[in-house]
Amino acid sequence: MKIVVKIGTQLITNEQGLLNHSFIEDIVRQIVLLKKQNHDVILVSSGAMGAGRGLIQPPETMNKVVQRQILSSIGQVKMIEAYSTALQKKGYHCCQVLTCKEDFRDRHHYLNMKNCFSALLHENILPIVNENDVIAIDELMFTDNDELSGLIGAMMDVDAVLILTSVDGIFDKHPNDPDAQILDELDSDHQLVKYISKEKTQYGRGGMHTKARVATKLASMGITTHIANGNTEDIVVRIVNGEKIGTRIIPKKRLSSMKKWIAHTDGIKKGKVTINACAEEILTSSSIARSLLPVGITKIIGPFAKGDIVTIENEKGEVLGLGIAQYNSETAEKYLGKKSKPPFMRYDYLYIGKV
Ligand code: GLU
Repeated sequence: MKIVVKIGTQLITNEQGLLNHSFIEDIVRQIVLLKKQNHDVILVSSGAMGAGRGLIQPPETMNKVVQRQILSSIGQVKMIEAYSTALQKKGYHCCQVLTCKEDFRDRHHYLNMKNCFSALLHENILPIVNENDVIAIDELMFTDNDELSGLIGAMMDVDAVLILTSVDGIFDKHPNDPDAQILDELDSDHQLVKYISKEKTQYGRGGMHTKARVATKLASMGITTHIANGNTEDIVVRIVNGEKIGTRIIPKKRLSSMKKWIAHTDGIKKGKVTINACAEEILTSSSIARSLLPVGITKIIGPFAKGDIVTIENEKGEVLGLGIAQYNSETAEKYLGKKSKPPFMRYDYLYIGKV
């Protein structure tokens, strides 16, 4: 199996912001066990900023963004050092991959990154990924590392993404309710967010909401997500070995790697097309793959060039998906509503689903 394991800040650091070394050693022990069983593992680890807090205290008056940059810059070193020491004791190497949103935008760059990860896995090196917090500024940041683990999972076409947190999974009621039961399996059509409260842990950026959003998106691409408590004994090994523990979000049909990339390009879409009810029906309900033809398009908002990512909306303004334009907005305008014109989006360059 190929998996992404995501570790949240609350697991890897304590309240004083110090690194939880015994947690790191334990997660490394589990990963090494899986590697010995020939599983491929990619780790996405938060905690740089948390670890930084245990090292220095920037002055209160300092700009918040600069505070975050400084804390994560020194904390990241400390965190990787801890992982690397734990791995080396067992005869393995890790490497640090710091990334930002920009890295996923351009397909060429994306494929370079993918090749590098494949080579690292081939060499049995554990990639440890985090956002490059030192250079990331607000508008260019991932929502949090849950989003980043979803992107890495999609890029590497993994079997499962394990999001480890400090709660046992998704509950049917508020976790503080004594009657609350863990939902061991959920269909992504279930509107996962309705099971989730808006609370967040103290230092992490995300929360259950992003976890549910990422899980829904991964499910629509055919990738399983597990949300589970990282403090449960042998959690990673047990999930990989098929034990029902935490919440598993059931995947749908697997998408091609091109469609997975398109699904994650929401930050770079250039234009928008509205399609009529007939085209909507064909694209959303057909089990056969269909291309989007100009005859089904009623409105175009450009400008965009051939090869750009364009959003598809229905007449109610609901986003149905994304696709790669086969020609620019000027040509699309000329073909608008006409029959017998070349497809505007080919079926294999078209993603219909959660954006
Ligand atoms: N990249 C941040 C860190 O390592 C964590 C972001 C998040 O909470 O997801 O501190």
